Amino acid sequence: MKILLITEQREGQWNKTSFETLAAAQQIAAETNGSLAGVVIGKRIAALASELAATKLDEVLLVEHDLLSAYTPDGFTIALQQTIAQAKPDLVLLPHTYQVRDFAPKLAASLGKGMIGDCIGYRHENGKLIFVRQMFQGKTVADVVFEGSAPWFATFQAGASRADAVIQGASKAPITPVAVDLKPEQIRTKPLELFREAKQAVDLTQAPILVSVGRGIKAPENIPMAEKLAKLLGGEISASRPICDEGWLPMDRQIGSSGQTVAPKLYLALGISGAIQHVVGMKGSRTIVAINKDQNAPIFEVADYGIVGDLFEIVPALIEELEKTKGT
Ligand SMILES: Cc1cc2nc3c(=O)[nH]c(=O)nc-3n(C[C@H](O)[C@H](O)[C@H](O)COP(=O)(O)OP(=O)(O)OC[C@H]3O[C@@H](n4cnc5c(N)ncnc54)[C@H](O)[C@@H]3O)c2cc1C
Repeated sequence: MKILLITEQREGQWNKTSFETLAAAQQIAAETNGSLAGVVIGKRIAALASELAATKLDEVLLVEHDLLSAYTPDGFTIALQQTIAQAKPDLVLLPHTYQVRDFAPKLAASLGKGMIGDCIGYRHENGKLIFVRQMFQGKTVADVVFEGSAPWFATFQAGASRADAVIQGASKAPITPVAVDLKPEQIRTKPLELFREAKQAVDLTQAPILVSVGRGIKAPENIPMAEKLAKLLGGEISASRPICDEGWLPMDRQIGSSGQTVAPKLYLALGISGAIQHVVGMKGSRTIVAINKDQNAPIFEVADYGIVGDLFEIVPALIEELEKTKGT
């Protein structure tokens, strides 16, 4: 099997989900005895290509063009169509980022192919690849297989694999520039300045630690306590939907089916019941710690560590201990 991994960078910075998908791609290549090429696309990306070439893959394809310096769905689709025509992969893997959601269905459809989006895993059984994706807001999972001829397209959800599972190569993989033919008139949109909707918005998907508050926090006056804990842990604050609906925290801090999907190293849930719409956005976290006074709260079903108790006793105690450690 010939696998092509399409990575994502913006302004010279990796989207770290690329490395999670690289880990999955390396594993699929090993299990299918296949080859793996990684694509870096954009402008001024030679350093990133070199970084990618240090990981275990057979080749890095450098897709560089002036018209790819800013992302446009037309530019990326045309450049990647040409890359795929040259590389002739069987399987094209992408991280399920916002940008990929924008262009990958168009790319697959333009080649008359289907795409299995937002996969949480895969199995290799009897020589066949089976992709696993959630349905009905994470209430159930489905096995999905490709029909028809290659190339097949699949995207992996953030947290589906661990970026630290990426295997480094014994030596650097060769970097091959791919010549793409792109003309300004083929690009029908003009990207303006990048901006974040909220002034101090953070990309929660990139935060290693999240302290997340739910309705158990009771009142907006108590949020600074959770923020203090987040700061001491070196993390960010996030929330369940009612907290954002109330305006106690901005909407971009919301985790769940109508918020962000995150997979930090540590997710600390304070007074969150664990409704499915919340859990679907955080259950890929490496370690989940839940503090809830109701021992039957569903959040404990996904928690690695559960503390049954009052967050107003436990959080101040945690803050006190962390301050002591920081002080020493
Ligand atoms: C279409 C749709 C989309 C949705 N999208 C989202 C989404 O993206 N994200 C999301 O989060 N929700 C979403 N929801 C809402 C979701 O169904 C739940 O209502 C919501 O997640 C509940 O938030 P919560 O856990 O903070 O509140 P609650 O369910 O009220 O839970 C509060 C928890 O705090 C505990 N508690 C109370 N006091 C304390 C204390 N002193 N110490 C410790 N624990 C305490 C309680 O035992 C309880 O378990 C969506 C709903 C719908 C219908």
